[in-house]
Amino acid sequence: MKEEISRKLYKRAVSLMPGVVNSPVRAFSAVGRIPLFIDRAKGDKIYDADGNEYIDYVCSWGPGILGHSHPKIIEAVKAACDKGLTFGAPTRNEVELAELIKSLMPSIEVMRMVNSGTEATMSAIRVARGYTGRDMIVKFKGCYHGHSDGLLVKAGSAALTSAVPDSDGVPKSYIQNTLVAEYNDENSVRELFDKFGNEIACIIVEPVAANMGVVLPKPGFLTFLRDITDKYNSVLIFDEVITGFRLGLGGAQEYYGIKPDMTALGKIVGGGMPMAVYGGRREIMQCVSPTGKVYQAGTISGNPIATTAGITALKILSENKNIYTEIDRKAAGLEKALKETGLSVNRIGSLLCGFFTDRKVENYDDALSSDTKKYAEFFSYLLENGIYIAPS
Ligand SMILES: *Cc1c(COP(=O)(O)O)cnc(C)c1O
Repeated sequence: MKEEISRKLYKRAVSLMPGVVNSPVRAFSAVGRIPLFIDRAKGDKIYDADGNEYIDYVCSWGPGILGHSHPKIIEAVKAACDKGLTFGAPTRNEVELAELIKSLMPSIEVMRMVNSGTEATMSAIRVARGYTGRDMIVKFKGCYHGHSDGLLVKAGSAALTSAVPDSDGVPKSYIQNTLVAEYNDENSVRELFDKFGNEIACIIVEPVAANMGVVLPKPGFLTFLRDITDKYNSVLIFDEVITGFRLGLGGAQEYYGIKPDMTALGKIVGGGMPMAVYGGRREIMQCVSPTGKVYQAGTISGNPIATTAGITALKILSENKNIYTEIDRKAAGLEKALKETGLSVNRIGSLLCGFFTDRKVENYDDALSSDTKKYAEFFSYLLENGIYIAPS
């Protein structure tokens, strides 16, 4: 494994970008290395600037479900580029993509296209607040919904209302309406609703938590969230930025048979381009400007290149349903291998994670018990043997 060029690029980048990256998860600091600078990728392989080849298990953190540089997506994007990059006006593409998404996820009756998952969840929450006329929201410890101010919180030391910012630069006042519950713990949610139920605009949840490693919802947990939000007329938002088109074409909501009021999509929906979507019940989405009074906008939202990549990716996925059985089968093999080494493994479909812990991982605290030093060794061993996995 040569690292010469990556090292040179690292030296140039170190004074230019925080941690040399444009998103913190890309830094290899957690595993005590410098990140590889990637030059190109094709199919299941990724190649760094030094010409090393790796089997890529990161897949750009989700969008790469079809492998890198799928010929049909590249061809479609090239053709779209010839017609212009952005018009700031409605296009046929947006109509086609919206129809496609609705056909795959019928709970999304009306939707908006945006540029990132962060934007999608942030906007969905604003709409939920506008619709209900309430300010409070409930999120779960260890679930990630992008980097907007109100969502960068962690639970404080005392129970219930004591959430604190999880990032410098987030004013306490921005998170005073964010309540934090424990994933897979119905009681922690019930306590919040007992106390604030009529002030809670929404629950936002990753139906399968996939940002603290992979943590599956316990049987009944999602149904419970559906029921309690119904009871209090709160909005249930499924953040399916990872699970959408990943757990199957209909996402986690189809897999578990639960209909959220609103859904956020990202990652796969853009086929590798910056693109995300939020949407849901017509009655709720009618609140969005210009039909309603919740403001949300975007200069390059729904742009023709990203929508082209998204449409092409979703069409390939819906026309080749065996893709899901195939990645499921492969992930099952990987699960077996990891379990044989003694790791605690969580898997659902192609979402898979091995934790270096004896515990069964069912929430954030369980996930934190994973031995990160061992993970770092594991990571380096794999990397040096041509296998690229997430660097934390
Ligand atoms: C990645 C992710 C986001 C944020 O999406 P960005 O496009 O990175 O802003 C939101 N929610 C979940 C569940 C994610 O995994």
